[in-house]
Amino acid sequence: MRRPLVAGNWKLNGSRSANQTLMQALVGPVSGLGKVDVAVCPPFVYLEQVAGLCRDGGIALGAQDVSDQDNGAFTGEVSGDMLREMGCTCVIVGHSERRTLYGEDDAFTARKFAAARRHGLTPILCVGELLEEREAGVTESVVARQLDAVLAVEGIEALSDAVIAYEPVWAIGTGRTATPEQAQAVHAFIRARLADRDPDVARKVRILYGGSVKADNAAELFAQPDIDGGLIGGASLKASDFLAICKAA
Ligand code: PGA
Repeated sequence: MRRPLVAGNWKLNGSRSANQTLMQALVGPVSGLGKVDVAVCPPFVYLEQVAGLCRDGGIALGAQDVSDQDNGAFTGEVSGDMLREMGCTCVIVGHSERRTLYGEDDAFTARKFAAARRHGLTPILCVGELLEEREAGVTESVVARQLDAVLAVEGIEALSDAVIAYEPVWAIGTGRTATPEQAQAVHAFIRARLADRDPDVARKVRILYGGSVKADNAAELFAQPDIDGGLIGGASLKASDFLAICKAA
């Protein structure tokens, strides 16, 4: 009942020529996939270029971050309105690299989530625990805290048209994927926590897995009942890998 979504997070990668090569290899094959939504999230400066390359190809455009502010004296920020104007329909919010490398906390992430929705963008809210948190047995309380920060600001209804990405930090870019069972357990926890507030929202919300998803492990992850697709970093930069992952969804 939930349509799978595979989103490529290009992070700080790309160039005009590399983007063109990658998108040209994706557009035709993705348009033939049918039952999966596919999005790519390039760096801000390439959004307009990639929007042109997405056109009519069945690939949605997303950004990797959004300002919590709408306009004004906020040097270096990019607003949700600007992203919409560039053709974005979704935006990653609270990626662990923003949280851990740039000190963005739960409350700030919640304000960005609100900003995305205010401008009609689908937020892809990232949650996930650090290795030491998993080892300390506090994975669920960390993920609950990250979720609750958004629920407190926006309410449960806001999740009905949002996407959640569970990304254990220890699995991101490390080649160390969560096992399908580990991932499913946290996805089920997230859905159950949302169901406590609104079963209907919990049933509908798409929960993606992210963290070293590759062509050869995607199918078993996506086969789990509460995993509705993936947020893909490294493997989204190579067309053949990304396409194989999209097909696995
Ligand atoms: P990875 O990154 O696939 O390279 O592990 C995932 C992400 O950070 O979204």
